[in-house]
Amino acid sequence: MNGEDFEKKRRELIKRLIREGILRDKKVIKAMLAVPREEFVPANYRSFAYNDTPLPIGYGQTISAPHMVAIMTQALNPDPGDKVLEVGTGSGYQAAILAEIVGDSGHVWTIERVKELVEFARSNLGRLSYLRRVTVIHGDGSLGYSPAAPYDKIMITAATPEVPEPLLEQLKVGGRLVAPVGDRYLQRLVIITKESDGKIRREYSIPCVFVPLVGRYGFKYDEF
Ligand code: SAH
Repeated sequence: MNGEDFEKKRRELIKRLIREGILRDKKVIKAMLAVPREEFVPANYRSFAYNDTPLPIGYGQTISAPHMVAIMTQALNPDPGDKVLEVGTGSGYQAAILAEIVGDSGHVWTIERVKELVEFARSNLGRLSYLRRVTVIHGDGSLGYSPAAPYDKIMITAATPEVPEPLLEQLKVGGRLVAPVGDRYLQRLVIITKESDGKIRREYSIPCVFVPLVGRYGFKYDEF
């Protein structure tokens, strides 16, 4: 402990996001109050954990800004008991938020391509006892994770030129997928629902900027 009142800062940030009209959903508010973001950032960034900004987590990657986590989670609208797939584990923070919502009857599978971040996320999630509800996988998440498919909800937390076909296949009928779709520099949040006849419905939400999804169905190169 370094004497900082993280809990107070967390409550203040969340109050601000509610006041600004960003945070609206009760289960997301509850989850964001429960998960300590300071536990998911490198030690030298702990003091900034409750600034509403992305922070570096090493390997050219970032933990998303709290407002973006709020917007993405609300767009995904996970329910208790859901099976959720996250592509792009990073720090594990978003996976912890999803785990809070799906509860003990649900489960979160999350895939990360950078081995060191898989270990970083596992240790963060383990310290806070989330590994009962979260499985962290090392691999190319643009291929999804077929052993646990199909999923009720899928969230991609890296920029992708198109929603990878395997992920659409691994989504349940009636399921929902959220992803930042666009080029390397600017994307738009896309919300996909798979309808009863298997038809894919797309809604376009806010513009956003994410680090790239690098893989078979993502961007083909990595500048880092
Ligand atoms: N959700 C994270 C932040 C994601 S940053 C959090 O809460 O901290 C995006 C992450 O996607 C990075 O860690 C990056 O390494 C990872 N990534 C990029 N391409 C990937 C791929 N094909 N499969 C899995 N992870 C990938």
